[in-house]
Amino acid sequence: MKTFDTIDELRAWVGGEKRRGLSVAFVPTMGALHGGHRACIEKAAELGDVVVVSIFVNPTQFGPGEDLDKYPATLDKDLELCRNLGVAAVFVPETREMYTTNQNVWVEVEGLTSPLCGRSRPGHFRGVATVVAKLFNIVAPDTAVFGQKDAQQAVVINEMVTRLNLPVRVALAPTIREPDGLALSSRNGYLGDADRQRAASIYQALLAGRDAISRGDRTAKTIIEAVQTRLATGGIDDVEYVELVTADTLEPIDRVEGRVLLGVAVRIGTTRLIDNVVLTVAADGGVTEAMLF
Ligand code: AMP
Repeated sequence: MKTFDTIDELRAWVGGEKRRGLSVAFVPTMGALHGGHRACIEKAAELGDVVVVSIFVNPTQFGPGEDLDKYPATLDKDLELCRNLGVAAVFVPETREMYTTNQNVWVEVEGLTSPLCGRSRPGHFRGVATVVAKLFNIVAPDTAVFGQKDAQQAVVINEMVTRLNLPVRVALAPTIREPDGLALSSRNGYLGDADRQRAASIYQALLAGRDAISRGDRTAKTIIEAVQTRLATGGIDDVEYVELVTADTLEPIDRVEGRVLLGVAVRIGTTRLIDNVVLTVAADGGVTEAMLF
């Protein structure tokens, strides 16, 4: 497995692979890799001949007071996991390699970034879209894989690719969870034992919302209340949002029909956690979990 910390060396290597006729599948990450990243890498291995992973904690997607400075770093372990998964190359740039001067050019995806996490994290998706656009230009992948765990991010990236005609196919990996339902996240490590137990209620609350829909409830307000109630009984009292939006355009809905995204963001102690389920409501009223796209 190759590791590169400069753009030029990575580009030269990717160019060589492409000249050999190999397709490139890319998984951007911020490191502290876990089973969710593994799922993305495994999906990438299905879709491309060679897999490239980037590990870069992107400062421009963190707001003031967020956890940029304490974001977990486990590089040796990450490289080991990548090696075991057959990754061909890992790109680990320093910040100065990615942002050599003051960044005065940004990718702004309008509309899709105003609901859900966009409300409380102004500038976050601008940072994400900008770094992913830069990484796409550096890696030049045929395919890039993102996790449904960060559903709004996946929709934003897909929109960027479509509207800017970027020659990349965007694919999704499903959300990987702990046995008790907590979605794997690099931030779960911030949680102490009691908070970790509380965190299991996030997914249980999403399931309570799903159950309400399965029972025939179609009113967003009461479904959202079912989620909020389950969060409260699970000891989660700092709820940033519980939202029901359309799965494709992320527009708030009053009534549930077709494919919808039920998203949650909470704070447990000082740790902010997000999760979601995408649900398809069939004509016969049956409810199934679905992929975003
Ligand atoms: P991050 O390192 O948190 O920026 O995540 C890198 C990629 O892994 C993103 O596309 C995430 O959506 C994806 N990812 C993170 N957690 C999970 C998870 N639990 N299941 C599936 N994908 C995930």
